[in-house]
Amino acid sequence: MMYPKPQRKKKRKKHKASILHCKDGTCYLCMKLKGDYRRYPVVHEHHIYDGPNRQNSEAEGLKVYLCLDHHIMGPEAVHNNHKNMRILHRDGQRAYERTHSRAEFMSLIGRNYLDEEKQEEPKKDTKDGFMFLEPDCIGCFGASENQCERCEEKRHDKKTETLAD
Ligand SMILES: [Zn+2]
Ligand SMILES: [Zn+2]
Repeated sequence: MMYPKPQRKKKRKKHKASILHCKDGTCYLCMKLKGDYRRYPVVHEHHIYDGPNRQNSEAEGLKVYLCLDHHIMGPEAVHNNHKNMRILHRDGQRAYERTHSRAEFMSLIGRNYLDEEKQEEPKKDTKDGFMFLEPDCIGCFGASENQCERCEEKRHDKKTETLAD
């Protein structure tokens, strides 16, 4: 079982903020799977690619914040639930490939998670009111102060529009 490291900073390794999700108390999977944007008093930082890739995940910002039920507790937790783990593997790769090639992803992580979903590409399934990853958003769902370039662009566009008015 994995527990997140204490928040103390020890050795200065290469750190990067998540490229998928901003740490605002929301749970990535609650938002993605349930459209639930609530903020939890405690969320765990989860590195999307574990084992030898944990450091790569840290260095490249391939991590998300999860509520305990989605992290380590119970049947929906990524550490117990292959399906949910795979969702993150794919979203992480999509996010990384916004700024890198597939070859770069594969040389970083050592495998490719996206081919197997070719047939089920971005269908805009709005089941439960949730819109699946738009091609222009890496999965941050427009949450406030996220670091998604696409959302930033959108916000910026909005600003410019308003200014132009
Ligand atoms: Zn959750
Ligand atoms: Zn974890």
